[in-house]
Amino acid sequence: MGKNKDINAKILWFTGLSGAGKTTIAYGIKERLKQENIKIIVLDGDKLRKGINKDLGFSLEDRKENIRRVAEIAKLFKDEGFLTIVSFISPTKEIRDLAKSIVSEDGFVEVFIDAPLEKCIQRDVKGLYKRAISGEISNFTGINSPFERPINPDITIDTDKLTVDESVEKIIKILI
Ligand code: ADP
Repeated sequence: MGKNKDINAKILWFTGLSGAGKTTIAYGIKERLKQENIKIIVLDGDKLRKGINKDLGFSLEDRKENIRRVAEIAKLFKDEGFLTIVSFISPTKEIRDLAKSIVSEDGFVEVFIDAPLEKCIQRDVKGLYKRAISGEISNFTGINSPFERPINPDITIDTDKLTVDESVEKIIKILI
């Protein structure tokens, strides 16, 4: 209990294209709340894919399994009272609904980290768009694998219009 009880035991499920800003905002929230009495964990897609999910590829089936596992992990942390930020592309409605059904709607906050594809290609944070466009990588979201925009997310952050700090503040304001 305490003044931050409202923000505990929630899952912020970030969805959005590669390069939209999920990781930056997730760690931005963690940094911004570090003085507060809140247990926070960030579950980052790239990190989990290097470890627990390294047996999985990028077919829609494997993406579903990727999400199923992280949803189960997120649920464990949520049940322990963590503010759990999940930073995964989560490209389809089916995948996001699967996540929601595993963790239950209670405390599940769908956050659409939105930036136009052209902007993400321009940022090309990891150089992956270049490789996908040249055909070197297949099944890359937005290029040769689908991304379905969330229809009714709880929060939308337009990272083409907001700065990183403004994005972080907007989410925290809505949560507290
Ligand atoms: P993702 O995790 O979605 O693949 P990243 O966080 O790795 O995306 O990269 C997003 C890039 O966009 C970073 O280089 C970041 O500095 C930049 N950026 C610009 N504006 C924003 C914003 N409002 N929020 C988050 N990132 C932003």
